[in-house]
Amino acid sequence: MSSAPYSSALAAELAPEVLARLLRYVRVDTRSDAAQEQSPSTPGQLELGRLLVEELRAIGLADAEQDANGFVFATLAGNVPGAPVIGLLAHLDTSPDKSGTGVEPLVQSDYDGGRIALPRCGTVLDPERMPELRSKVGHDLVTTSGDTLLGADDKAGMAEVMAAVAHLAAHPELPRATIRVGFTPDEEIGRGAHLFDIERFGARCAYTFDGSEAGEFTDETFSAASAELTIRGVEVHPGSAKDKLVNAARLAGRVLAALPQDRLTPETTSGREGFIHVDALKATAGTARIHAIVRDFDDDKLAEHVALLRATAEQIVASEPRARLEFEVEPQYPNMRRHLEHHPDVVAAAEQAVRLEGFEPERVPARGGTDGSILSARGLPTPNLFTGGQEYHSVREWASVQDMAAAAAVAVRLAGIWALR
Ligand SMILES: [Zn+2]
Repeated sequence: MSSAPYSSALAAELAPEVLARLLRYVRVDTRSDAAQEQSPSTPGQLELGRLLVEELRAIGLADAEQDANGFVFATLAGNVPGAPVIGLLAHLDTSPDKSGTGVEPLVQSDYDGGRIALPRCGTVLDPERMPELRSKVGHDLVTTSGDTLLGADDKAGMAEVMAAVAHLAAHPELPRATIRVGFTPDEEIGRGAHLFDIERFGARCAYTFDGSEAGEFTDETFSAASAELTIRGVEVHPGSAKDKLVNAARLAGRVLAALPQDRLTPETTSGREGFIHVDALKATAGTARIHAIVRDFDDDKLAEHVALLRATAEQIVASEPRARLEFEVEPQYPNMRRHLEHHPDVVAAAEQAVRLEGFEPERVPARGGTDGSILSARGLPTPNLFTGGQEYHSVREWASVQDMAAAAAVAVRLAGIWALR
């Protein structure tokens, strides 16, 4: 038994079910795969989606269905005439960064504040390096066995939405708005939200449960673009290359060296600073390809970073007239803020729900994107709420049962807040 208090009696009531659901869902391997064209990108997401459809129907959401692209939608009818329809969302897939096969979650009851040595691969959760862990003394924690990710990103969110909907369905005396549940594929590879059928979903607004520390919510994300630079040189047998060879790999090296090193990189920035991140380089003497992602909260600054990347490459490549440069930019997702600004009531309801659960709401600009970045831009205002999961995309991933229960309680409270609007 844990010694840490729950944030509310409601959270205490929801906790066992949230935990049981998380432990069940993480066992299905749902890593997405950007190399696959179809939706969902991997069969595990369909498998988990089928399980969720069954569970939603068992709760009483009779219209639960999985569509051809792997989206799971279901409705819990409201009981207050005139109340709006709101969406509760989580994503089915987990990050391709680490193995998600054979996840064996461990529950550490009543955490004592010390180092947690996991059984496999020498993985250690060290409170010295994880300030969030230090603040969870007395909590029950769910960890991995050390060799896979946990998948709390975003199965914690999924477990919370499911537990909240089950609670509301079992308590028709609680005033509630109509809830549309949505579980989406391929968030981690930036695809799911593009295929999301907003019209069929039919909600006025939605909330993703895909954040982290209890009390946090997000109504602002990076704006994002990717760039691909192709440098073409002149490849010649090196034995007879004098005055003929133009080495694209060396030109690419010079471009990388000329980019800012002590600023505008992920490892030198935080908070509201943007960056240029070179995340792949493939080069031969004949052809070099540099891939970079560019991020900023401000669209004008994002454009400046892209322009700097382009100007740097153009200048280096122009020093060798026989070399050629191709530069392609693609927008990835926009900062959700400029779309949410027009819907202050949506963000206010999130803040109110977090406050009702006993937390001082903390607005955290996300140095990444969420499904809500794209959904908000496409016309479904969708801020993001915490889940209680931590250290995402790593074998050190863990989640607090108390914080997950708090997130589920926030979802229940949102249904009540919107019922009265
Ligand atoms: Zn996520």
